[in-house]
Amino acid sequence: MQFEESERLKMLPPYLFAEMDEIINRKKEKGLDVISLGIGDPDIPTSNDIIEVLCREANNPENHRYPSSYGLKIFNEAVSRFYYERFNVTLNPDREVIPLIGSKEGIANIAYTFINPGDYAIITSPSYLVYKIGTMFAGGIPYTIPLEEKNNFLFNINDIDSEIAKKAKILYINYPNNPTSAVCDINFFEKIVDFAEKNKIIICHDNAYSDTYWGNNKPMSFLNAGGAKYVGIELNSLSKTFNMTGWRIGYAVGNEEIIRSLGKYKTNVDSGVFNAIQYAAVKALENYRKHTEYNNKIYNKRREMVKKALDDIGIDYYNSNATIYVWAKVPQGFTSESFSKMILDRANVVVTPGSAFGEYGEGYIRISLTITDSRLEEALNRIRNVL
Ligand SMILES: *Cc1c(COP(=O)(O)O)cnc(C)c1O
Repeated sequence: MQFEESERLKMLPPYLFAEMDEIINRKKEKGLDVISLGIGDPDIPTSNDIIEVLCREANNPENHRYPSSYGLKIFNEAVSRFYYERFNVTLNPDREVIPLIGSKEGIANIAYTFINPGDYAIITSPSYLVYKIGTMFAGGIPYTIPLEEKNNFLFNINDIDSEIAKKAKILYINYPNNPTSAVCDINFFEKIVDFAEKNKIIICHDNAYSDTYWGNNKPMSFLNAGGAKYVGIELNSLSKTFNMTGWRIGYAVGNEEIIRSLGKYKTNVDSGVFNAIQYAAVKALENYRKHTEYNNKIYNKRREMVKKALDDIGIDYYNSNATIYVWAKVPQGFTSESFSKMILDRANVVVTPGSAFGEYGEGYIRISLTITDSRLEEALNRIRNVL
């Protein structure tokens, strides 16, 4: 039988890297040791004290029933406390916090909650792909603004065409940024708030990397900007901060009407996050200082290893101390894909071509720090030897 996919699925852009996947599979079949620096998924296991809470709460029959889409009170309060201690942002736990089944879910569902067919959503390129695809699934039109190195991968919000600004429903932003690792300051967020007020646009700030950084220059919350709560929400996640990608828990915070509408949508398509996972997340958030210190020390060591190797080889990279990636320039004469392929061919090492994140990612590769120090060292030595 033939089943015709929806127009929605049929309009997904073609998968660009099938050929690279094919090469990787052939190498693995031949028994070659391929090292992947391609995936943004922490290798460090979730901390034991968090796992213990999950196990204990999983044994409580009260937690076996449907959770509320709006979250356990104790979870929402833990998020509020975390936001106060970490960002000095005050949140009402009942109305300004909602758990998400991972922030990816929130990115896609916020589009379904607010976008009508034909509405614009403003997204950046390069970026995490779900902003664009979520918009398209909801029938919206993604309008792309380039992130360029000469602007430190920020953008001037006032460059946006005023007609587009008027017709846009949502602006998605993400700092610390995947894939570029760029961080923004409060000025940038404040200009975004002004723009949003003027044009009645919902701001959706993805802060998935709020706590993967090194040094004193701590990333901020979008809600640190004056008036931010009137125009938008921030999505955050336990995935990267607490090595919990598989657990599927994140949350949205900010404007209470937006949160309420998102909750209204969610009650109709999912039924919340398993309560035992919410309890475990409380444990994680309560001890965020301990966990982030531990993780960031590991990532920073690896980041320094990658920077040193790139310096030795003479490859330029964007100098940042945030996220779990290094965004590096491909040498003259290569495209993102041809350079990635060359490294794969000769060194059996996978890096992500920047063009995977949108057209303005062309000319870069993304190197992920989510692999053990010894495997990373091996991968970097191989790259050194072939270049
Ligand atoms: C990893 C990542 C997420 C998704 O995280 P989940 O909470 O696991 O769904 C969201 N945004 C960006 C930019 C990411 O890199």
